[in-house]
Amino acid sequence: MGPLILGHAYPPVLQAVQDALRDGTAFGAPTAREVQFARRLCEAFPGVERVRAVSSGTEATMTAIRLARAFTGRTKILKFDGCYHGHSDSLLVRAGSGALTFGVPNSPGVPEALASQTLVAPFNDGEQVQAWFAANGDEIAAVIIEPIAGNMGVVPPAPGFLEGLREVTAAHGALLVFDEVITGFRLTYGGVQTLRGIRPDLTCLGKIIGGGLPLAALAGPAEIMGRLAPVGPVYQAGTLSGNPLAVAAGLEMLTQLQRPGVYPRLEELGARLEDGVRGVLQRRRVRGCINRVGSMWTLFFGVDEVTDAATAEASDTQLFARYFRGMLAEGIYLPPSAFESAFVSLAHSDADIDLTIEAADRVLAALA
Ligand code: PMP
Repeated sequence: MGPLILGHAYPPVLQAVQDALRDGTAFGAPTAREVQFARRLCEAFPGVERVRAVSSGTEATMTAIRLARAFTGRTKILKFDGCYHGHSDSLLVRAGSGALTFGVPNSPGVPEALASQTLVAPFNDGEQVQAWFAANGDEIAAVIIEPIAGNMGVVPPAPGFLEGLREVTAAHGALLVFDEVITGFRLTYGGVQTLRGIRPDLTCLGKIIGGGLPLAALAGPAEIMGRLAPVGPVYQAGTLSGNPLAVAAGLEMLTQLQRPGVYPRLEELGARLEDGVRGVLQRRRVRGCINRVGSMWTLFFGVDEVTDAATAEASDTQLFARYFRGMLAEGIYLPPSAFESAFVSLAHSDADIDLTIEAADRVLAALA
């Protein structure tokens, strides 16, 4: 699922948790480590001046939406088909009956009244975004996006797509929320915003920043973040938010990720895997494509290109299921869905990558 970019049970992270454990595990108040942790995030992301620690990505995005609604005085939000932002009601929505239809809940239990406030556009479809703003521009509080999608499988943004979102939201007074729960510290020290030089209004972080413990964060400029309680009126709280063990793990994780060579090495491992698996597809005459950015990647069967949820869903999920089971029998634990990102970690060696490629070759030979 992506938090363990250094691998399981990474000794310095375990040590940091053990040290913190002796100091106590819950105080209902920020601790010194939480403040240090917040400072690190401010340093890593241009434009981030305030950080609110929470315990899950779901809480970070849920709070981002509440804050955006309060800040703009508007109710609608725009999300992208196939993007996952956790399981709060407003965000469990995709375009059920066409991109121009108002939101349809895709989980029982999400009230239609709430879902209808969530507009949905296809990922990479700037024209549909423009159309939503043309029709509802003064009602849209925020656009929320995974700037590199990981939850329909990996789908990178087309050139200019994210820049277009920045422009249209700014022009209409809506906030741009980057959900970097997966991509934060996955591809560089920082996020997709760092790589692309795009400044969102709010950033949601999770996974890697907690070093494998329950920690996530909402971050942004003081002007917006200052509206959160207790300084401002927008309520948010959590008994275990910024938990001392979690922030200790997160701080050590961030320290480790600042070592030189971390991200080039992850790119090297990812490229090795991509090349190898692509070779297997060719050798075994299996139609498919690999979407990879750095150490996050997805193999889609039966399609030549995946650029959004519709093309992801056109892939052969039956074959993926058989491939998944075959790989598991080989000792390789892939994410158990065709619509998830797989991750390479720094704990993987070249030999691990080669074993994975050999296993894929045996599995696909048997399936073909
Ligand atoms: N946003 C994104 C992009 C995610 O991938 C996830 C989790 N897969 C979440 C939000 C929700 O995070 P959590 O599971 O910690 O609630």
